[in-house]
Amino acid sequence: MSVILGQEQVGARSVEQTLRNIGPVVLLGPPGAGKGTQSKRITQHYRIPQVSTGDLLREHVKQGTPLGVQVRDLIARGELVSDHLVCDIVAWRLRETDAQRGFILDGFPRTAKQAVWLDSFLKFEFGDTGKWAAWLPIVVCIKVDYNKLLLRITGRRTCPTCGRIYNVHSQPPLVDEICDVDGSKLVTRDDDREEVIRERLDAYERQTKPVAEHYGRLGRVVEVNGDLPVDEVTASLIEAIDQGAHGAAGSS
Ligand SMILES: [Zn+2]
Repeated sequence: MSVILGQEQVGARSVEQTLRNIGPVVLLGPPGAGKGTQSKRITQHYRIPQVSTGDLLREHVKQGTPLGVQVRDLIARGELVSDHLVCDIVAWRLRETDAQRGFILDGFPRTAKQAVWLDSFLKFEFGDTGKWAAWLPIVVCIKVDYNKLLLRITGRRTCPTCGRIYNVHSQPPLVDEICDVDGSKLVTRDDDREEVIRERLDAYERQTKPVAEHYGRLGRVVEVNGDLPVDEVTASLIEAIDQGAHGAAGSS
């Protein structure tokens, strides 16, 4: 796999620093907290892959792999993709060569059961290699103020014609509810409605809590303030990962 350089100029020393072994990183954050953007920036900074279970499942289905065929059949029958199947798919991905210096898991582990599986997988696959300071993942939680988040998301307006996104609070159009580019009437996407967002935030809390608690007990959770400007959030994430990658917890 070729190395993707970030847009910023990187000095020789920091290249050396960022190409060291990072180990496993789990990124947790509610919908709308900027997890996608941050995840992309971290993968560029450390040049490690982002492993998203959603993307992996879609990719397996698209390519028609044996695992993908199982997933497609389950979905066709209206059944949920089992923990077992998701874990298998993650295992395949983490054994690939580009993941050997480390990786960022997105959307996994989603349950305490998946977390327990992940820990034993990592210990078995990477525990004795001595390559990483710690085989237990660093779990970085992006924390946001839910009221601010709601305000930000419910303020979103989308142009149905050109797809441009506005925000009535922070990035309003020149004329209320009208697209600057083509004069179309702006709409609120269903995903951005308050009741939909509240439901998704509640679901996130319910699902993530056991995972965060599991790693909290192991002393592997770092919280980052997601209400700060995007660049500052990135800086604190990198700091958290650097510290975690040097930590000795989980190395025994
Ligand atoms: Zn438009």
